[in-house]
Amino acid sequence: MTMYVVGLTGGIGSGKTTIAAIFAELGAEIINADLLARNVVSPGTKALTSIAKRFGKEILRQDGSLDRRKLREVVFKNKGELKWLEKLIHPLIAELLIQNIYSATSPYVILESPLLIETQQKELVDRILVVDLDEATQLNRSMERDGSSEEVIRAIISAQIPRSKRLKAADDIVDNSKSLAEVRQKVIQLHEIYLATARKL
Ligand code: ATP
Repeated sequence: MTMYVVGLTGGIGSGKTTIAAIFAELGAEIINADLLARNVVSPGTKALTSIAKRFGKEILRQDGSLDRRKLREVVFKNKGELKWLEKLIHPLIAELLIQNIYSATSPYVILESPLLIETQQKELVDRILVVDLDEATQLNRSMERDGSSEEVIRAIISAQIPRSKRLKAADDIVDNSKSLAEVRQKVIQLHEIYLATARKL
């Protein structure tokens, strides 16, 4: 059986999680690339051992798990290290994504990923849905949510693909500068379209 896969992407703090939660309520299964990425580096994995070797034990928390915030600060200041990390974990994440798509049972699935367009993950999806947000709101919401500094969030935004490129890759767009009520209406519309498309497969 072919599964209809909609990729949901957007920049940091754009609202991916918020919008995925509405799709989930409507009955779509959500495959979250960020969560799977955490599994790939959970304690005891080969990937985490390699990361600790490269960046030192300071990159681990006391309980042996990865300190993601520390890692983020290190790799976003150094493109070479970011590349090294991506080469290690992207293939492992892709493998898990494929497994999850195959075992999904909902009419269609949402693959939620901050790096959909930037990676080969885009080849796993039939349609790309972009959550769009102006940079000022994106910055404010991210800083408020993470307690990270403006400098760190700005560095992450500039390491991600530019808004214009993301919009070019989009088949569908949700403007998340709007109220949650308006956003919900848009998601309901998209859900109906995705359901109808999936039924025709
Ligand atoms: P990240 O990739 O950084 O994890 P994300 O794209 O999943 O972020 P969310 O966590 O969904 O983004 O949203 C970021 C913040 O913005 C959250 O605090 C969320 O509650 C808030 N938010 C999302 N959508 C709206 C909206 N339409 N109106 C007001 N606040 C919103």
